[in-house]
Amino acid sequence: MSAIQDQTQFEVRNPANGELIEVLPVHSREEVHAVMQRVRAAQKRWARLAIEDRAAAVGRLREVLVRRAPELAETVSRENGKPRQEALLHDVGPSLAVLEYFVHEASRILAPERIHLALLKHRKSYLVYQPKGVVAVISPWNFPFFLPASDTILALLAGNGVIIKPSEVCPRSALAVKSCLDEAEIDPELVQVVTGLGETGAALIEAAPDHLVFTGSVATGRRIGVACAERFIPCTLELGGKAPAVVLDDADLERTAHALVWGGFANAGQICASVERVYCTPGIYEPLLSRVAELTRALKIGSASGAGSADIGAITFPRQVEITTSLVEDARQKGARVLAGGTGPEGRGRFLAPTVLGDCHHEMRVMKEEAFGPVVPFMKVADADEAVSRANESHLGLGAYVFASDLEAARRIAERIEVGSVMINDVILHGGLPEMPWGGIKQSGHGVARSDRALKELCHARHINEPRLPGPLPKREPHWFPYTEKSERRILKFLKTFFGGSAPARLARWLLS
Ligand code: NAD
Repeated sequence: MSAIQDQTQFEVRNPANGELIEVLPVHSREEVHAVMQRVRAAQKRWARLAIEDRAAAVGRLREVLVRRAPELAETVSRENGKPRQEALLHDVGPSLAVLEYFVHEASRILAPERIHLALLKHRKSYLVYQPKGVVAVISPWNFPFFLPASDTILALLAGNGVIIKPSEVCPRSALAVKSCLDEAEIDPELVQVVTGLGETGAALIEAAPDHLVFTGSVATGRRIGVACAERFIPCTLELGGKAPAVVLDDADLERTAHALVWGGFANAGQICASVERVYCTPGIYEPLLSRVAELTRALKIGSASGAGSADIGAITFPRQVEITTSLVEDARQKGARVLAGGTGPEGRGRFLAPTVLGDCHHEMRVMKEEAFGPVVPFMKVADADEAVSRANESHLGLGAYVFASDLEAARRIAERIEVGSVMINDVILHGGLPEMPWGGIKQSGHGVARSDRALKELCHARHINEPRLPGPLPKREPHWFPYTEKSERRILKFLKTFFGGSAPARLARWLLS
Protein backbone atom coordinates (compact mmCIF):
# COMPACT_ATOMS: atom_id res chain seq x y z
CA MET A 1 0.00 0.00 0.00
CA SER A 2 1.17 3.51 -0.68
CA ALA A 3 -0.05 6.55 1.23
CA ILE A 4 0.98 10.19 1.27
CA GLN A 5 2.45 11.09 4.61
CA ASP A 6 2.39 14.79 3.88
CA GLN A 7 2.96 16.95 0.81
CA THR A 8 6.66 16.11 0.67
CA GLN A 9 6.89 12.34 1.06
CA PHE A 10 4.99 9.09 0.55
CA GLU A 11 5.15 5.52 1.80
CA VAL A 12 5.95 2.39 -0.18
CA ARG A 13 4.49 -0.79 1.31
CA ASN A 14 4.63 -4.52 0.56
CA PRO A 15 1.17 -5.58 -0.68
CA ALA A 16 1.72 -9.16 0.49
CA ASN A 17 1.96 -8.23 4.18
CA GLY A 18 1.52 -4.49 4.56
CA GLU A 19 5.14 -3.99 5.71
CA LEU A 20 6.50 -0.44 5.27
CA ILE A 21 9.44 -0.68 2.87
CA GLU A 22 10.53 2.94 2.48
CA VAL A 23 9.41 6.56 2.62
CA LEU A 24 10.33 8.47 -0.55
CA PRO A 25 10.27 12.17 -1.45
CA VAL A 26 7.53 13.82 -3.51
CA HIS A 27 9.47 15.86 -6.06
CA SER A 28 8.05 19.36 -6.34
CA ARG A 29 7.35 21.28 -9.53
CA GLU A 30 10.54 23.34 -8.99
CA GLU A 31 12.65 20.24 -8.46
CA VAL A 32 11.25 18.60 -11.60
CA HIS A 33 12.07 21.72 -13.65
CA ALA A 34 15.61 21.77 -12.26
CA VAL A 35 16.05 18.08 -13.15
CA MET A 36 14.90 18.89 -16.70
CA GLN A 37 17.69 21.48 -17.07
CA ARG A 38 20.33 19.01 -15.92
CA VAL A 39 19.15 16.21 -18.22
CA ARG A 40 18.95 18.66 -21.15
CA ALA A 41 22.58 19.65 -20.68
CA ALA A 42 23.70 16.01 -20.47
CA GLN A 43 21.63 15.06 -23.53
CA LYS A 44 23.50 17.58 -25.68
CA ARG A 45 26.77 15.75 -24.90
CA TRP A 46 25.18 12.31 -25.42
CA ALA A 47 23.63 13.23 -28.80
CA ARG A 48 27.08 14.12 -30.16
CA LEU A 49 28.21 10.48 -29.81
CA ALA A 50 27.95 8.20 -32.84
CA ILE A 51 25.16 5.67 -32.49
CA GLU A 52 27.72 2.83 -32.27
CA ASP A 53 29.29 4.53 -29.23
CA ARG A 54 25.90 5.02 -27.59
CA ALA A 55 25.13 1.32 -28.22
CA ALA A 56 28.46 0.28 -26.69
CA ALA A 57 27.75 2.35 -23.57
CA VAL A 58 24.16 1.12 -23.15
CA GLY A 59 25.37 -2.44 -23.85
CA ARG A 60 27.40 -2.32 -20.60
CA LEU A 61 24.08 -2.62 -18.79
CA ARG A 62 23.77 -6.28 -19.83
CA GLU A 63 26.39 -7.59 -17.41
CA VAL A 64 24.94 -5.51 -14.59
CA LEU A 65 21.39 -6.78 -15.14
CA VAL A 66 22.49 -10.41 -15.37
CA ARG A 67 24.62 -10.16 -12.21
CA ARG A 68 21.98 -8.28 -10.22
CA ALA A 69 18.97 -10.30 -11.51
CA PRO A 70 18.13 -12.04 -8.17
CA GLU A 71 18.33 -8.78 -6.21
CA LEU A 72 16.29 -6.88 -8.84
CA ALA A 73 13.60 -9.59 -8.79
CA GLU A 74 13.44 -9.30 -5.01
CA THR A 75 13.03 -5.50 -5.23
CA VAL A 76 10.17 -5.87 -7.75
CA SER A 77 8.50 -8.70 -5.87
CA ARG A 78 8.62 -6.90 -2.54
CA GLU A 79 6.86 -3.73 -3.64
CA ASN A 80 4.65 -5.22 -6.38
CA GLY A 81 3.63 -8.54 -4.82
CA LYS A 82 4.33 -10.76 -7.84
CA PRO A 83 6.24 -14.03 -7.26
CA ARG A 84 10.01 -13.66 -7.71
CA GLN A 85 9.86 -16.02 -10.69
CA GLU A 86 7.43 -13.64 -12.42
CA ALA A 87 9.68 -10.69 -11.63
CA LEU A 88 12.51 -12.54 -13.40
CA LEU A 89 10.30 -13.63 -16.30
CA HIS A 90 8.28 -10.43 -16.77
CA ASP A 91 10.63 -7.67 -15.65
CA VAL A 92 14.33 -8.57 -15.69
CA GLY A 93 14.22 -11.09 -18.58
CA PRO A 94 12.34 -8.92 -21.11
CA SER A 95 14.53 -5.92 -20.18
CA LEU A 96 17.57 -7.98 -21.17
CA ALA A 97 15.87 -9.14 -24.38
CA VAL A 98 15.06 -5.53 -25.31
CA LEU A 99 18.61 -4.44 -24.46
CA GLU A 100 20.20 -7.21 -26.51
CA TYR A 101 18.06 -6.61 -29.59
CA PHE A 102 18.26 -2.82 -29.70
CA VAL A 103 21.96 -2.56 -28.81
CA HIS A 104 22.69 -4.71 -31.86
CA GLU A 105 20.04 -3.33 -34.19
CA ALA A 106 19.85 0.40 -33.36
CA SER A 107 22.40 1.50 -35.97
CA ARG A 108 20.59 -0.49 -38.69
CA ILE A 109 17.16 0.77 -37.63
CA LEU A 110 18.25 4.41 -37.47
CA ALA A 111 20.43 4.38 -40.59
CA PRO A 112 19.53 7.05 -43.18
CA GLU A 113 16.58 5.84 -45.26
CA ARG A 114 16.33 6.46 -49.01
CA ILE A 115 12.92 7.55 -50.33
CA HIS A 116 11.88 6.51 -53.85
CA LEU A 117 10.75 9.55 -55.87
CA ALA A 118 8.34 8.78 -58.69
CA LEU A 119 8.48 12.11 -60.53
CA LEU A 120 11.55 14.05 -59.48
CA LYS A 121 14.10 11.71 -61.00
CA HIS A 122 16.76 14.43 -61.06
CA ARG A 123 16.67 14.71 -57.27
CA LYS A 124 16.98 12.29 -54.36
CA SER A 125 15.47 12.18 -50.88
CA TYR A 126 16.35 10.47 -47.66
CA LEU A 127 15.40 10.50 -43.98
CA VAL A 128 17.84 10.95 -41.13
CA TYR A 129 16.83 9.92 -37.62
CA GLN A 130 17.93 12.38 -34.98
CA PRO A 131 17.32 12.48 -31.22
CA LYS A 132 14.28 14.38 -29.99
CA GLY A 133 15.95 15.68 -26.81
CA VAL A 134 14.55 14.70 -23.41
CA VAL A 135 12.04 11.84 -23.23
CA ALA A 136 9.74 11.66 -20.20
CA VAL A 137 8.71 8.14 -19.17
CA ILE A 138 5.65 7.91 -16.91
CA SER A 139 5.02 4.34 -15.86
CA PRO A 140 2.48 2.19 -13.95
CA TRP A 141 2.93 -0.34 -11.16
CA ASN A 142 2.35 -3.67 -12.91
CA PHE A 143 5.76 -4.00 -14.64
CA PRO A 144 7.64 -1.55 -12.43
CA PHE A 145 11.09 -2.56 -13.70
CA PHE A 146 10.50 -3.68 -17.29
CA LEU A 147 8.52 -0.66 -18.51
CA PRO A 148 10.85 2.10 -17.28
CA ALA A 149 13.92 0.01 -18.19
CA SER A 150 12.83 -0.81 -21.75
CA ASP A 151 11.51 2.68 -22.54
CA THR A 152 14.75 4.17 -21.18
CA ILE A 153 16.96 1.80 -23.20
CA LEU A 154 15.21 2.78 -26.45
CA ALA A 155 15.25 6.49 -25.64
CA LEU A 156 18.98 6.42 -24.82
CA LEU A 157 19.92 4.50 -27.98
CA ALA A 158 17.97 7.08 -29.99
CA GLY A 159 20.24 9.73 -28.42
CA ASN A 160 17.83 11.19 -25.89
CA GLY A 161 18.09 11.98 -22.19
CA VAL A 162 15.40 10.47 -19.94
CA ILE A 163 13.36 11.47 -16.90
CA ILE A 164 11.35 8.62 -15.35
CA LYS A 165 8.30 9.26 -13.16
CA PRO A 166 7.48 5.80 -11.80
CA SER A 167 4.20 4.79 -10.21
CA GLU A 168 3.97 5.91 -6.59
CA VAL A 169 2.87 2.32 -5.79
CA CYS A 170 6.12 0.69 -7.02
CA PRO A 171 8.81 3.38 -7.38
CA ARG A 172 11.81 1.46 -6.03
CA SER A 173 12.07 -0.73 -9.14
CA ALA A 174 12.65 2.37 -11.31
CA LEU A 175 15.23 3.60 -8.80
CA ALA A 176 16.90 0.20 -9.29
CA VAL A 177 16.94 0.83 -13.07
CA LYS A 178 18.76 4.10 -12.37
CA SER A 179 21.25 2.41 -10.06
CA CYS A 180 22.01 -0.22 -12.77
CA LEU A 181 22.61 2.55 -15.33
CA ASP A 182 24.97 4.29 -12.89
CA GLU A 183 26.81 1.03 -12.34
CA ALA A 184 27.13 0.62 -16.13
CA GLU A 185 28.80 4.07 -16.08
CA ILE A 186 26.22 5.83 -18.23
CA ASP A 187 26.56 9.59 -17.57
CA PRO A 188 24.76 9.92 -14.19
CA GLU A 189 23.17 13.22 -15.29
CA LEU A 190 21.58 11.70 -18.42
CA VAL A 191 18.84 9.63 -16.77
CA GLN A 192 16.97 10.87 -13.71
CA VAL A 193 14.08 9.53 -11.66
CA VAL A 194 11.56 11.89 -10.08
CA THR A 195 9.30 10.29 -7.49
CA GLY A 196 5.87 11.37 -6.35
CA LEU A 197 2.18 11.12 -7.15
CA GLY A 198 0.19 12.26 -10.18
CA GLU A 199 1.13 15.92 -9.55
CA THR A 200 4.80 15.09 -10.07
CA GLY A 201 3.89 13.47 -13.39
CA ALA A 202 1.87 16.57 -14.35
CA ALA A 203 4.86 18.79 -13.40
CA LEU A 204 7.06 16.68 -15.66
CA ILE A 205 4.79 17.41 -18.63
CA GLU A 206 4.75 21.13 -17.71
CA ALA A 207 8.56 21.05 -17.83
CA ALA A 208 8.15 20.45 -21.61
CA PRO A 209 9.92 17.20 -22.49
CA ASP A 210 10.42 16.60 -26.21
CA HIS A 211 8.48 13.32 -26.16
CA LEU A 212 6.41 11.49 -23.56
CA VAL A 213 6.01 7.73 -23.23
CA PHE A 214 3.06 7.12 -20.94
CA THR A 215 1.86 3.69 -19.82
CA GLY A 216 -1.17 3.57 -17.56
CA SER A 217 -4.93 3.81 -17.37
CA VAL A 218 -7.28 5.24 -19.98
CA ALA A 219 -8.50 7.94 -17.56
CA THR A 220 -4.99 9.25 -16.83
CA GLY A 221 -3.99 8.77 -20.47
CA ARG A 222 -6.82 11.08 -21.55
CA ARG A 223 -5.68 13.81 -19.11
CA ILE A 224 -2.08 13.39 -20.22
CA GLY A 225 -3.02 13.47 -23.91
CA VAL A 226 -4.74 16.83 -23.35
CA ALA A 227 -1.79 18.24 -21.37
CA CYS A 228 0.61 17.15 -24.15
CA ALA A 229 -1.61 18.53 -26.91
CA GLU A 230 -1.67 21.95 -25.22
CA ARG A 231 2.13 22.04 -25.32
CA PHE A 232 2.58 20.25 -28.70
CA ILE A 233 4.48 17.43 -26.97
CA PRO A 234 4.35 14.25 -29.07
CA CYS A 235 3.31 11.29 -26.95
CA THR A 236 3.07 7.54 -27.01
CA LEU A 237 0.03 6.41 -25.00
CA GLU A 238 -0.02 2.76 -23.88
CA LEU A 239 -3.33 2.39 -22.06
CA GLY A 240 -5.77 -0.25 -20.88
CA GLY A 241 -6.76 -3.56 -22.46
CA LYS A 242 -9.66 -6.02 -22.42
CA ALA A 243 -8.06 -8.86 -24.39
CA PRO A 244 -10.54 -11.33 -25.87
CA ALA A 245 -9.62 -14.97 -26.56
CA VAL A 246 -11.57 -16.60 -29.37
CA VAL A 247 -11.58 -20.40 -29.11
CA LEU A 248 -12.82 -22.54 -31.99
CA ASP A 249 -14.04 -26.15 -31.73
CA ASP A 250 -10.89 -27.60 -33.30
CA ALA A 251 -8.50 -25.96 -30.78
CA ASP A 252 -6.15 -28.23 -28.81
CA LEU A 253 -8.10 -28.44 -25.55
CA GLU A 254 -5.21 -29.11 -23.18
CA ARG A 255 -2.87 -26.44 -24.59
CA THR A 256 -5.67 -23.88 -24.78
CA ALA A 257 -6.70 -24.55 -21.18
CA HIS A 258 -3.13 -24.12 -19.87
CA ALA A 259 -2.64 -21.01 -22.03
CA LEU A 260 -5.84 -19.37 -20.76
CA VAL A 261 -4.97 -20.09 -17.14
CA TRP A 262 -1.51 -18.55 -17.49
CA GLY A 263 -2.77 -15.75 -19.74
CA GLY A 264 -5.54 -14.88 -17.29
CA PHE A 265 -3.76 -15.26 -13.98
CA ALA A 266 -0.04 -14.48 -14.49
CA ASN A 267 0.83 -11.37 -12.48
CA ALA A 268 -2.54 -12.00 -10.72
CA GLY A 269 -4.29 -10.83 -13.90
CA GLN A 270 -2.69 -7.39 -13.65
CA ILE A 271 -1.35 -7.29 -17.20
CA CYS A 272 -2.70 -5.04 -19.94
CA ALA A 273 -2.50 -8.12 -22.22
CA SER A 274 -4.21 -10.50 -19.71
CA VAL A 275 -6.94 -12.74 -21.10
CA GLU A 276 -9.98 -10.77 -19.89
CA ARG A 277 -12.80 -12.63 -21.70
CA VAL A 278 -13.16 -15.91 -23.59
CA TYR A 279 -15.56 -16.60 -26.48
CA CYS A 280 -15.96 -20.32 -27.28
CA THR A 281 -17.83 -22.05 -30.07
CA PRO A 282 -20.32 -24.66 -28.73
CA GLY A 283 -18.32 -27.89 -29.27
CA ILE A 284 -15.44 -26.88 -26.97
CA TYR A 285 -17.24 -24.63 -24.50
CA GLU A 286 -18.07 -27.03 -21.63
CA PRO A 287 -14.95 -29.25 -21.77
CA LEU A 288 -12.65 -26.20 -21.93
CA LEU A 289 -14.46 -24.37 -19.15
CA SER A 290 -14.27 -27.32 -16.79
CA ARG A 291 -10.58 -28.00 -17.57
CA VAL A 292 -9.69 -24.32 -17.04
CA ALA A 293 -11.58 -24.36 -13.72
CA GLU A 294 -9.78 -27.53 -12.64
CA LEU A 295 -6.34 -26.08 -13.47
CA THR A 296 -7.25 -22.82 -11.73
CA ARG A 297 -8.33 -24.52 -8.51
CA ALA A 298 -4.86 -26.14 -8.37
CA LEU A 299 -3.01 -22.79 -8.41
CA LYS A 300 -1.22 -21.80 -5.21
CA ILE A 301 -1.93 -18.34 -3.87
CA GLY A 302 0.58 -16.88 -1.51
CA SER A 303 3.60 -15.00 -0.40
CA ALA A 304 5.23 -13.27 -3.27
CA SER A 305 8.85 -13.59 -2.31
CA GLY A 306 9.14 -17.32 -1.70
CA ALA A 307 10.94 -18.77 -4.73
CA GLY A 308 8.70 -21.30 -6.44
CA SER A 309 6.29 -21.30 -3.51
CA ALA A 310 3.27 -19.60 -5.08
CA ASP A 311 1.72 -19.14 -8.51
CA ILE A 312 -0.49 -16.16 -7.72
CA GLY A 313 1.01 -13.21 -5.89
CA ALA A 314 -0.61 -10.29 -4.16
CA ILE A 315 -2.90 -7.68 -5.69
CA THR A 316 -0.58 -4.72 -5.99
CA PHE A 317 -2.97 -1.81 -5.89
CA PRO A 318 -5.81 -1.72 -3.31
CA ARG A 319 -8.45 -0.47 -5.75
CA GLN A 320 -7.99 -3.54 -7.97
CA VAL A 321 -9.46 -5.68 -5.17
CA GLU A 322 -12.67 -3.60 -5.15
CA ILE A 323 -12.86 -3.44 -8.96
CA THR A 324 -12.35 -7.17 -9.49
CA THR A 325 -14.66 -8.18 -6.62
CA SER A 326 -17.44 -5.91 -7.83
CA LEU A 327 -17.19 -7.22 -11.43
CA VAL A 328 -17.41 -10.82 -10.15
CA GLU A 329 -20.37 -9.93 -7.93
CA ASP A 330 -22.21 -8.18 -10.77
CA ALA A 331 -21.70 -11.25 -13.01
CA ARG A 332 -22.83 -13.64 -10.26
CA GLN A 333 -26.03 -11.63 -9.73
CA LYS A 334 -26.74 -11.70 -13.47
CA GLY A 335 -26.46 -15.49 -13.67
CA ALA A 336 -22.76 -16.35 -14.08
CA ARG A 337 -21.63 -19.77 -12.80
CA VAL A 338 -18.60 -19.50 -10.50
CA LEU A 339 -16.41 -22.52 -11.28
CA ALA A 340 -13.30 -21.48 -9.38
CA GLY A 341 -12.47 -18.76 -6.88
CA GLY A 342 -15.06 -16.03 -6.53
CA THR A 343 -14.07 -15.20 -3.00
CA GLY A 344 -12.93 -11.88 -1.62
CA PRO A 345 -9.50 -11.11 -0.16
CA GLU A 346 -7.84 -14.12 1.44
CA GLY A 347 -5.71 -14.09 4.57
CA ARG A 348 -3.22 -11.34 5.43
CA GLY A 349 -2.11 -8.88 2.78
CA ARG A 350 -4.00 -8.42 -0.46
CA PHE A 351 -4.71 -11.71 -2.23
CA LEU A 352 -7.61 -12.68 -4.48
CA ALA A 353 -8.48 -16.23 -5.50
CA PRO A 354 -8.24 -16.63 -9.29
CA THR A 355 -11.81 -16.79 -10.53
CA VAL A 356 -13.36 -18.58 -13.52
CA LEU A 357 -16.89 -17.61 -14.56
CA GLY A 358 -19.12 -19.54 -16.96
CA ASP A 359 -22.29 -18.56 -18.85
CA CYS A 360 -21.35 -14.89 -19.09
CA HIS A 361 -22.99 -12.43 -21.50
CA HIS A 362 -22.55 -8.84 -22.55
CA GLU A 363 -25.03 -7.42 -20.02
CA MET A 364 -22.38 -8.22 -17.40
CA ARG A 365 -19.78 -5.54 -16.63
CA VAL A 366 -17.04 -8.20 -16.47
CA MET A 367 -17.30 -8.66 -20.26
CA LYS A 368 -16.80 -4.94 -20.96
CA GLU A 369 -14.80 -3.19 -18.23
CA GLU A 370 -11.10 -3.77 -17.66
CA ALA A 371 -10.77 -5.96 -14.54
CA PHE A 372 -6.98 -5.90 -14.25
CA GLY A 373 -7.36 -8.66 -11.67
CA PRO A 374 -7.59 -12.47 -11.55
CA VAL A 375 -10.94 -13.17 -13.25
CA VAL A 376 -11.57 -14.97 -16.56
CA PRO A 377 -15.20 -14.96 -17.79
CA PHE A 378 -16.38 -17.42 -20.48
CA MET A 379 -19.19 -16.89 -22.99
CA LYS A 380 -20.60 -19.44 -25.45
CA VAL A 381 -21.02 -18.06 -29.00
CA ALA A 382 -22.83 -19.60 -31.98
CA ASP A 383 -19.86 -19.44 -34.37
CA ALA A 384 -16.64 -17.67 -35.32
CA ASP A 385 -18.53 -14.66 -36.72
CA GLU A 386 -20.31 -14.04 -33.44
CA ALA A 387 -16.99 -14.46 -31.59
CA VAL A 388 -15.40 -11.74 -33.74
CA SER A 389 -18.30 -9.32 -33.35
CA ARG A 390 -18.35 -9.85 -29.54
CA ALA A 391 -14.57 -9.41 -29.40
CA ASN A 392 -14.97 -6.10 -31.24
CA GLU A 393 -17.74 -4.87 -28.91
CA SER A 394 -15.27 -2.95 -26.78
CA HIS A 395 -13.95 0.57 -26.36
CA LEU A 396 -10.47 -0.98 -25.94
CA GLY A 397 -8.26 -2.57 -28.60
CA LEU A 398 -4.87 -3.65 -27.28
CA GLY A 399 -4.25 -7.42 -27.46
CA ALA A 400 -6.26 -10.50 -28.48
CA TYR A 401 -5.88 -14.28 -28.87
CA VAL A 402 -7.22 -16.94 -31.22
CA PHE A 403 -7.06 -20.68 -30.53
CA ALA A 404 -7.67 -23.12 -33.40
CA SER A 405 -5.93 -26.01 -35.16
CA ASP A 406 -6.81 -24.68 -38.61
CA LEU A 407 -4.23 -21.89 -38.85
CA GLU A 408 -5.77 -20.41 -41.97
CA ALA A 409 -9.12 -19.99 -40.18
CA ALA A 410 -7.34 -18.58 -37.10
CA ARG A 411 -5.48 -16.05 -39.25
CA ARG A 412 -8.70 -14.87 -40.90
CA ILE A 413 -10.23 -14.25 -37.46
CA ALA A 414 -7.07 -12.58 -36.12
CA GLU A 415 -7.15 -10.07 -38.97
CA ARG A 416 -10.75 -9.11 -38.18
CA ILE A 417 -10.27 -8.41 -34.45
CA GLU A 418 -9.90 -4.68 -33.83
CA VAL A 419 -6.76 -4.58 -31.69
CA GLY A 420 -3.09 -3.68 -32.02
CA SER A 421 -1.71 -7.22 -31.71
CA VAL A 422 -3.05 -10.80 -31.88
CA MET A 423 -1.35 -14.08 -30.92
CA ILE A 424 -2.54 -17.38 -32.37
CA ASN A 425 -2.34 -20.38 -30.02
CA ASP A 426 -0.25 -18.49 -27.47
CA VAL A 427 -0.65 -15.69 -24.93
CA ILE A 428 0.94 -12.55 -23.41
CA LEU A 429 4.39 -12.67 -25.04
CA HIS A 430 3.54 -10.08 -27.71
CA GLY A 431 3.37 -7.49 -24.91
CA GLY A 432 7.05 -7.72 -24.07
CA LEU A 433 9.30 -8.99 -26.84
CA PRO A 434 11.64 -6.52 -28.53
CA GLU A 435 10.84 -7.12 -32.21
CA MET A 436 7.06 -7.11 -31.82
CA PRO A 437 5.22 -3.79 -32.02
CA TRP A 438 3.05 -3.33 -28.94
CA GLY A 439 0.38 -0.66 -29.06
CA GLY A 440 -3.34 -0.17 -29.06
CA ILE A 441 -6.15 1.22 -31.13
CA LYS A 442 -9.46 2.73 -29.95
CA GLN A 443 -9.10 3.93 -26.32
CA SER A 444 -6.08 1.68 -25.75
CA GLY A 445 -3.96 4.56 -27.01
CA HIS A 446 -1.65 5.36 -29.87
CA GLY A 447 1.98 4.88 -30.84
CA VAL A 448 3.99 1.75 -30.19
CA ALA A 449 6.34 0.45 -27.54
CA ARG A 450 9.07 -1.89 -28.72
CA SER A 451 9.83 -2.96 -32.32
CA ASP A 452 11.86 -0.96 -34.84
CA ARG A 453 8.95 1.48 -35.16
CA ALA A 454 9.15 2.38 -31.45
CA LEU A 455 12.83 3.36 -31.74
CA LYS A 456 11.99 5.57 -34.72
CA GLU A 457 9.13 7.21 -32.77
CA LEU A 458 11.71 8.48 -30.30
CA CYS A 459 13.56 10.33 -33.07
CA HIS A 460 12.78 13.19 -35.39
CA ALA A 461 12.70 11.79 -38.92
CA ARG A 462 14.21 14.70 -40.86
CA HIS A 463 13.82 14.76 -44.60
CA ILE A 464 16.70 15.87 -46.82
CA ASN A 465 16.26 16.38 -50.57
CA GLU A 466 19.22 17.11 -52.85
CA PRO A 467 20.26 17.07 -56.55
CA ARG A 468 20.90 13.56 -57.74
CA LEU A 469 23.79 14.35 -60.07
CA PRO A 470 26.83 16.54 -59.50
CA GLY A 471 27.43 19.53 -61.77
CA PRO A 472 25.75 22.85 -62.45
CA LEU A 473 22.00 23.19 -62.12
CA PRO A 474 19.75 25.26 -64.43
CA LYS A 475 19.40 28.85 -63.28
CA ARG A 476 15.63 28.47 -63.16
CA GLU A 477 13.23 25.47 -62.86
CA PRO A 478 10.32 25.44 -65.36
CA HIS A 479 7.66 25.71 -62.60
CA TRP A 480 9.21 28.80 -60.94
CA PHE A 481 8.17 32.43 -61.68
CA PRO A 482 7.19 33.99 -64.00
CA TYR A 483 3.85 32.28 -64.75
CA THR A 484 3.03 32.59 -68.46
CA GLU A 485 0.54 31.11 -70.91
CA LYS A 486 3.32 28.90 -72.21
CA SER A 487 4.14 27.57 -68.73
CA GLU A 488 0.45 26.87 -68.12
CA ARG A 489 0.27 24.83 -71.36
CA ARG A 490 3.36 22.94 -70.21
CA ILE A 491 1.70 22.04 -66.89
CA LEU A 492 -1.41 20.75 -68.71
CA LYS A 493 0.77 18.67 -71.01
CA PHE A 494 2.65 17.31 -68.02
CA LEU A 495 -0.60 16.32 -66.23
CA LYS A 496 -1.86 14.57 -69.36
CA THR A 497 1.41 12.75 -69.90
CA PHE A 498 1.83 11.48 -66.38
CA PHE A 499 -1.70 11.02 -65.06
CA GLY A 500 -3.86 10.56 -68.21
CA GLY A 501 -5.32 7.26 -69.41
CA SER A 502 -3.59 7.11 -72.83
CA ALA A 503 -1.09 4.37 -73.68
CA PRO A 504 1.92 6.80 -73.76
CA ALA A 505 0.91 8.14 -70.35
CA ARG A 506 0.72 4.64 -68.90
CA LEU A 507 4.10 3.85 -70.47
CA ALA A 508 5.62 7.04 -69.00
CA ARG A 509 4.31 6.12 -65.55
CA TRP A 510 5.64 2.57 -65.87
CA LEU A 511 9.09 3.83 -66.93
CA LEU A 512 9.22 6.16 -63.96
CA SER A 513 7.92 3.74 -61.35
P1 NAD B 1 -2.41 5.20 -13.70
O1 NAD B 1 -2.94 5.80 -14.94
O2 NAD B 1 -3.20 5.36 -12.46
O3 NAD B 1 -0.95 5.75 -13.36
C1 NAD B 1 0.12 5.66 -14.27
C2 NAD B 1 1.15 6.73 -13.95
O4 NAD B 1 0.61 8.02 -14.23
C3 NAD B 1 1.60 6.77 -12.50
O5 NAD B 1 2.99 6.96 -12.47
C4 NAD B 1 0.88 7.99 -11.95
O6 NAD B 1 1.52 8.61 -10.86
C5 NAD B 1 0.91 8.91 -13.16
N1 NAD B 1 -0.10 9.99 -13.17
C6 NAD B 1 -1.32 10.01 -12.56
N2 NAD B 1 -1.95 11.18 -12.83
C7 NAD B 1 -1.13 11.91 -13.62
C8 NAD B 1 -1.21 13.19 -14.24
N3 NAD B 1 -2.29 13.96 -14.12
N4 NAD B 1 -0.18 13.61 -14.99
C9 NAD B 1 0.92 12.83 -15.16
N5 NAD B 1 1.07 11.62 -14.59
C10 NAD B 1 0.06 11.14 -13.83
O7 NAD B 1 -2.19 3.65 -14.06
P2 NAD B 1 -1.81 2.45 -13.10
O8 NAD B 1 -2.97 2.17 -12.19
O9 NAD B 1 -0.46 2.70 -12.50
O10 NAD B 1 -1.65 1.26 -14.15
C11 NAD B 1 -2.68 0.39 -14.53
C12 NAD B 1 -3.15 0.70 -15.94
O11 NAD B 1 -2.04 0.67 -16.84
C13 NAD B 1 -4.13 -0.33 -16.48
O12 NAD B 1 -5.21 0.32 -17.10
C14 NAD B 1 -3.32 -1.10 -17.52
O13 NAD B 1 -4.09 -1.67 -18.54
C15 NAD B 1 -2.40 -0.04 -18.01
N6 NAD B 1 -1.20 -0.62 -18.63
C16 NAD B 1 -1.07 -0.56 -19.98
C17 NAD B 1 0.03 -1.14 -20.60
C18 NAD B 1 0.20 -1.08 -22.10
O14 NAD B 1 1.26 -1.45 -22.58
N7 NAD B 1 -0.77 -0.63 -22.86
C19 NAD B 1 1.01 -1.76 -19.82
C20 NAD B 1 0.85 -1.81 -18.46
C21 NAD B 1 -0.26 -1.23 -17.85
